[in-house]
Amino acid sequence: MQSKLAHAAERKAFSVALDQIIKAASGPDREKNLDKLLDMASNLLKDTSPGAARGLRNGLYPGSKYEKFLFQVIDETDPHVLKTTVLNGGYEAAFRGLRDTTANADKEQCNVPWIILFDPTSACNKHCIGCWAADYGNALNLTFDECDSLVSQAKALGTHLFMLTGGEPLVRKKDVLRLAEKHNDCLFNIFTNASLVDDAFCKEVQRLGNIVFSVSVEGTEETNDGRRGEGSYEEVMAAFDLMHKYGLLYGTSTAYTRLNIEAVTSDDYFDNLIAHGCRFAWFFHYMPVGEGASADLMPTVEQREYVMKRIREVRAVKGGKPIFAMDFQNDGEFVGGCIAGGRVYCHVNARGDVEPCVFIHYSNANIRDMSWLDCLKQPIFQSYRAHYPWNDNLLQPCPMLENPEILPEIVHQTDAKSTQYTAEESVETLHDRVAPYAASWAPEAKRLWLDEHPTGKKIYADAMSNEKISVKAKLIAEEEAEAEKKYAGVDQQQ
Ligand code: SF4
Repeated sequence: MQSKLAHAAERKAFSVALDQIIKAASGPDREKNLDKLLDMASNLLKDTSPGAARGLRNGLYPGSKYEKFLFQVIDETDPHVLKTTVLNGGYEAAFRGLRDTTANADKEQCNVPWIILFDPTSACNKHCIGCWAADYGNALNLTFDECDSLVSQAKALGTHLFMLTGGEPLVRKKDVLRLAEKHNDCLFNIFTNASLVDDAFCKEVQRLGNIVFSVSVEGTEETNDGRRGEGSYEEVMAAFDLMHKYGLLYGTSTAYTRLNIEAVTSDDYFDNLIAHGCRFAWFFHYMPVGEGASADLMPTVEQREYVMKRIREVRAVKGGKPIFAMDFQNDGEFVGGCIAGGRVYCHVNARGDVEPCVFIHYSNANIRDMSWLDCLKQPIFQSYRAHYPWNDNLLQPCPMLENPEILPEIVHQTDAKSTQYTAEESVETLHDRVAPYAASWAPEAKRLWLDEHPTGKKIYADAMSNEKISVKAKLIAEEEAEAEKKYAGVDQQQ
């Protein structure tokens, strides 16, 4: 781990460089200056995410779709919001956070996530059909002090990216702003229905600069309001316009189901989001978890293949659309498969239970009973760490959805308890609900995977992406020693 002094000096150096880059990328010669920005990003990502560095280079060539997209984001985003988001999300989370969490994972012999999702509240002001928050009721909340303690302890291990889910996090608007203000070196991504977004709130977010939004929306007014309630679609569009007025950064979060797939992937849908200033569109496969979940809402095999190809088409460097779309179930190959159990992320619910994933409700740890580090060392996380990866085919990344025999093994081996709020769900019940889907998807997943990866394995173009934590940690430690000397020198000169 880097010392506090070296960290502060490094952040300052990054901040100065970022000012220059944003200035250069806003001026008349900005096309020419883009190369400098790419050099900087490549340098930051070279060890921990070399694939991402290559992706940036491939996507941002002169005249490309993503070059225009980037310039539009720079032109239309409030300068303070843009700088703070890149500084906290790019430098603190993706660069320094990845390095520090890797070093700590090696030292502590447990997964240390660089992203944490947590639910400040189970309360929601909406009652969308099929949403887990509808089952949770309004009774559960993490206090401000608990949220603050979680963020502080996680930061000490290197984590700087926090995603707030729920419930509706903006039911706790004041606490969300207070938390973002106190931890102004972190980035907070709020998953929200946007119905509580107003002028005064946007003004505060603009002042702070370290909050971005993933807004729930599902297709047309008809498909959206059919599940989310009359008037919800109009509320979301009005919130987008307001966020755009204040130069904020936002995109969408959409669960695709057997019933809405066409509506949430149509040209009209994407074009409308783009017209309203959305920069990204996250897609999540419907997960039939918990009381009232229906296996019939899961996409058919044909629909899943269609979504996979459609999202890649929209995201493509050539053609496609000026929005960054990602399908978390089908894009597993770009993040090494399942990211849960603290490998990349984990989830804390509004009762404090620490779960491997927002969709996997089994745990041995609660932030109210133990330190954050002890929560990360809980048996179910260690078992995730030992079992991962469950499948070489990263179109079958999940220990619940596509490899349903794995989750019961992990849960029983670790004696993890169900953390469902309303009715406990046995892992066998969950297994039986998803097993037919897993069986029907398996042959298609194999065909699609072999089409792209004839050996059956993804061949990584660089060795580091696939290396063990201990190897990465050793390389990072050597580089950190060099950086420490460099920034110690800078500090003494100041
Ligand atoms: S447990 Fe399943 S849903 Fe959660 S991150 Fe892993 S693959 Fe995705």
